[in-house]
Amino acid sequence: MSKTVIIVGASHAAAQTCVSLRQGGWSGEITLIGDELVPPYHRPPLSKDFLSGQKSIDDILIRPVQTYQDANINLRLGIRVGVINRVSKQLLTDGGDEVPYDKLVLATGARVRRLPIEGEALENVFYLRDTVDVLAINQKAQSAKTAVIIGGGYIGLETAASLRKLGLEVTVLEAMPRILQRVTAPQMSTFYKRVHTEEGVKIIENVMASEIIKQDHSLRVLTSCEQDFTADMVIIGIGIIPNVELAQTAGLKIGDGIEVNEFCQTSDPDIYAAGDVSWHYNPIYNTHIRLESVPNAIEQGKTVAAHINGAPKPYNALPWFWSDQFDLKLQIAGLSSGYDNVIMRGDNKAGRSFAAFYFKDDKFIAVDAVNSPRDFMFGKMVLTKGMSLNKARLADTGAQLKSCLMMG
Ligand SMILES: Cc1cc2nc3c(=O)[nH]c(=O)nc-3n(C[C@H](O)[C@H](O)[C@H](O)COP(=O)(O)OP(=O)(O)OC[C@H]3O[C@@H](n4cnc5c(N)ncnc54)[C@H](O)[C@@H]3O)c2cc1C
Repeated sequence: MSKTVIIVGASHAAAQTCVSLRQGGWSGEITLIGDELVPPYHRPPLSKDFLSGQKSIDDILIRPVQTYQDANINLRLGIRVGVINRVSKQLLTDGGDEVPYDKLVLATGARVRRLPIEGEALENVFYLRDTVDVLAINQKAQSAKTAVIIGGGYIGLETAASLRKLGLEVTVLEAMPRILQRVTAPQMSTFYKRVHTEEGVKIIENVMASEIIKQDHSLRVLTSCEQDFTADMVIIGIGIIPNVELAQTAGLKIGDGIEVNEFCQTSDPDIYAAGDVSWHYNPIYNTHIRLESVPNAIEQGKTVAAHINGAPKPYNALPWFWSDQFDLKLQIAGLSSGYDNVIMRGDNKAGRSFAAFYFKDDKFIAVDAVNSPRDFMFGKMVLTKGMSLNKARLADTGAQLKSCLMMG
């Protein structure tokens, strides 16, 4: 008898899982149920080319709708799944439909973390996670002259760069002593602050937004320091929260996300989780992690499909990410958290192309490469193969990358 795979969520992880299922020979029903109205789309351009108006929704679709139709994959959009009944193996949608499954994939991703201050829900205060958010931001940006961005992480800084492209005056408020503090070394923060300043963005660190108030046609952001900031629009980017509630209510094991094994199976063997929502063990870093990145969503989608198709392949990919701001293409391989030493290769003080190599106890753990794909590819290869690097040679830009490898 033909079996059914239901995938909840219709974004990067889901779009990969369904296609890999078919490619791996799954002949039963495949249905994606997602609560957004747009077919699966690339989320990274939302703060980049889609926000600055250089790309349309059609440009950012992960694949044409026809591809799903040709592969006999059902896309049910604009539908929210509210309950999983693991005993009857059925889902209940918010509209009251019962949907039976044999295998269930939770690709529910994450939602924005809201800033717990007065005024965060005022008109012209925005968060940024989906196309609806960005279309609203873009519309307001047509008439706005000034914007305040609360949060100096990647999303906040990418948004700042895109709004500058649209000609707005932009101020970024960061609560920590430096932008990107949670994810990079001080040298990287200093570099990004310099470039944003050169491009006309005001970056203000160590300042905590405490309230937003409406003032005539503008918004005033009050802060923990003396200074207030007035703008036509405010965008908040302070991180995300995994959408675990569906799994949690169904009694699945939860950590910092839905806990899965190396095959992306949850504590119920017929239910999988993939993408931003999954909390998994990474053998390279010997720790459980939840990653917020497209490559992770894609690789986990492939892992789920392979397991369902009876050709299991454990997930052990090296984490990698990217961020685009102005003319800067940042590529990151590995996880830098816990580093105790950083080697800079190239000119991060005046130039715009270099790499930061992170070490922990002399072990190379991650690289941040700015406009330097060669350093990124090299770092990724070294991390994947578990090789070691000679720090002194690495710091010498005259030395060839391959001469930095330590043998044995
Ligand atoms: C502005 C922005 C820029 C980014 N830039 C980068 C970048 O440069 N590089 C990078 O690697 N990553 C980037 N990311 C992160 C990347 O987009 C995510 O890692 C990726 O989208 C994760 O995919 P996912 O399929 O796990 O989940 P998501 O993309 O979060 O999708 C989950 C989907 O499930 C839906 N859903 C949730 N619950 C239910 C339910 N109960 N019923 C039905 N549907 C439900 C959600 O509405 C959503 O549509 C960016 C993200 C944002 C927002």
